[in-house]
Amino acid sequence: MASKLHLITYGCQMNEYDSERVAGLLREREYELTDDEREADVILVNTCAIREKAEDKVYSRLGQLKELKAARPDLVIGVMGCMAQLQQEQVRRRAPSVDLVFGSPAIARVGELVERARRERRPILDTAEAPLVKITAKPASADRLKAFVTVMEGCEKHCTFCVVPRTRGRERSHSPESIVAEVEGLVAEGCREVTLLGQTVNAYGRDLTPLTDLAELFQRVNDVAGLARIRFTTSNPYNLTPKLIRAMRDVPKVCEWFHLPLQSGSDQILEAMNRGYTRARYLELVDALRQAEPALAFSTDIIVGFPGETEADFAATVETVEQVGYDNVFVFRYSRRPGTPAADMPNQVDEAVKADRNRRLLTVVERVTGARSGLLAGRTMEVLVDGTSRKSAGELSGRTRCNRVVNFDGQGQVALGDVVPVLVTEVLPHSLRGALATPEEAVCSSR
Ligand code: SAM
Repeated sequence: MASKLHLITYGCQMNEYDSERVAGLLREREYELTDDEREADVILVNTCAIREKAEDKVYSRLGQLKELKAARPDLVIGVMGCMAQLQQEQVRRRAPSVDLVFGSPAIARVGELVERARRERRPILDTAEAPLVKITAKPASADRLKAFVTVMEGCEKHCTFCVVPRTRGRERSHSPESIVAEVEGLVAEGCREVTLLGQTVNAYGRDLTPLTDLAELFQRVNDVAGLARIRFTTSNPYNLTPKLIRAMRDVPKVCEWFHLPLQSGSDQILEAMNRGYTRARYLELVDALRQAEPALAFSTDIIVGFPGETEADFAATVETVEQVGYDNVFVFRYSRRPGTPAADMPNQVDEAVKADRNRRLLTVVERVTGARSGLLAGRTMEVLVDGTSRKSAGELSGRTRCNRVVNFDGQGQVALGDVVPVLVTEVLPHSLRGALATPEEAVCSSR
């Protein structure tokens, strides 16, 4: 009988991607995925170390799993991902029921590691550096319409708040050929949209011979027949080139959505964060992008309460959010990460002040994103149908190219995976409602 694997994933899209690969690799060894942890032979927890809260969640989950293990000593519990890479000893100490700890470089060896943990019945640790490999095992859920594709690993930006360079190592790009092959494989299984992933995805290719870049990769992925859309994340303003801006305008399958982390609107704080750009430079880039592609929607990440952030610094962030007019903003309270330069900076901001700035910024974000949503009413937009509405099973759901969720009545007329024109009839706080438009109406706007 096949062994059963239960996967628990925390954190970013890259972790989701890694979990898919792990499931794919273990499936090749006859493991079946199960949603029920009680029937699993192996439970793997894919972890995130970006903020303290993310780590707390993992330890509390491991505490729950300990009880399962007490009842079933044969169960193998593994911890993988960023926390595993960074704090292997601590994980073992705080969660002694864990049998296996391995970092991202060891993912390609997961089959062997799990087998050893089951056979040897002693703790196995593997967080060594390893050569970059593109895992070719099919993802476990190959029938998806949308998929992530990691194009590069690691990060060399060294933002002073961030643990990623320590958890995922230096920047290494996958070859364009291996990426295109992966996209072709996904499309053959029915995938219509890919999101190209990297910690600084717009630095893609600078470590490859011959040199290449994200703009060239867009073109190669664009040529994959049957693929409808390309997205990419996360970019750093520092690496944004005129060539990439032109590619966003000219490569047809690249969507009009850009996640461009600002982090702060204050030049002093940006410098202390080591971000490599000023507020003026960021705004210049936004202008250049909007000139090239007026339909572009922006989303961003912002940290409030970075060490030394004053009310004036915070006001500069609020002003920048208003100036850009984002479609979506992720706000984070600064979290002190051991081993990062910012953790040792003076003038750490009080938690109550962080909470207050977080709340105030979210109020501004709601107003700004609401105003952007209002502009969409009455427009006909291209929607990739990817499921049914969460609230009403009778309705279809999909996303616009600018990444908005649209629910509409179209059952029986269109199928999942279709790209159809939808007239936006109502703007709700977190989604749009629409009606299927005729192809003639669609001509007026594809976005
Ligand atoms: N590599 C990307 C970048 O540099 O923009 C994104 C990495 S991270 C997974 C996503 C977001 O988490 C960051 O953009 C940042 O806003 C936030 N973040 C990272 N470290 C943080 C920290 N120590 N405290 C609070 N937020 C943090």
